[in-house]
Amino acid sequence: MDLNGKHALVTGGGTGIGLAIARALASKGAKVTITGRRMAVLEDVAEDNMFPAVMDVTDDKAVAQVINQAVAERGPIQICVANAGIAEGRKLHKTDTEFWRKIMATNLDGCFYTVRESMRSMLTTDWGRVIAISSIAGVRGSAGAGAYAASKHGVIGMIRSFAEDFMGGPYTFNSICPGYVDTPIVTRNTDAIAARTGVSDDAARAMMVDLNRHKRLISPEEVAAAALWLCDPICESTNGQEIKIAGGQI
Ligand code: NDP
Repeated sequence: MDLNGKHALVTGGGTGIGLAIARALASKGAKVTITGRRMAVLEDVAEDNMFPAVMDVTDDKAVAQVINQAVAERGPIQICVANAGIAEGRKLHKTDTEFWRKIMATNLDGCFYTVRESMRSMLTTDWGRVIAISSIAGVRGSAGAGAYAASKHGVIGMIRSFAEDFMGGPYTFNSICPGYVDTPIVTRNTDAIAARTGVSDDAARAMMVDLNRHKRLISPEEVAAAALWLCDPICESTNGQEIKIAGGQI
């Protein structure tokens, strides 16, 4: 696959899944704008073809401004990977409004702002790919995941509908739904589950591993492979879909 001449945006591109996707796209020749809230983290990982920019996805004006700047420097965005997200869990009676809004603001509003501004640029071109990183929690429910699951279900519904907005055109919109992937989110989750349930960190991690039928965490590169595949011109017929990369969780 040759992505030379293509400008890609990967939010949350400085760590975990986003970084693996950014590296995969850059390895195929794309110029990749990677964003997050911490410039030091982004600068630390930026390799050839990767361009760091600070962008808080919860701030619609900042998203528009940073994307416009990236477009001015590297051309229209033709690959948008809306990956930035946070994963925190609380049971219903402990889900205060502030917590709910924080999860929605990042995972759902942030995805919307990113895709909207990218699409305004992509529409000036004759080819594009929008990929949103949802979650297996976007198609299931589980204890303590009310806000997170709602945000990730929302991503899937939004992306399906955006696909319909442009169906038959040269752009595709798909969601990827990972199970537990070995990234900083899982490390933080392990700590949180251990603190909430009183089990050891090892036991908390074992609970996540056990959900995977291969009895391991998924690697970020496995998710990146799917994102890269969606950028192949042969994938035009995969549109408005969800791809589960979840170790057999169905
Ligand atoms: P990471 O914590 O490594 O990645 C999350 C990224 O999002 C970070 O780079 C972070 O950068 C960025 N981010 C968070 N909040 C904001 C914000 N307000 N504005 C801009 N950037 C932000 O974990 P993952 O790589 O695992 O997570 C990536 C995505 O994958 C998330 O959407 C997550 O929900 C999803 N996912 C992860 C799974 C897993 O098991 N790991 C499973 C299913 C889905 P910074 O903090 O510098 O802003």
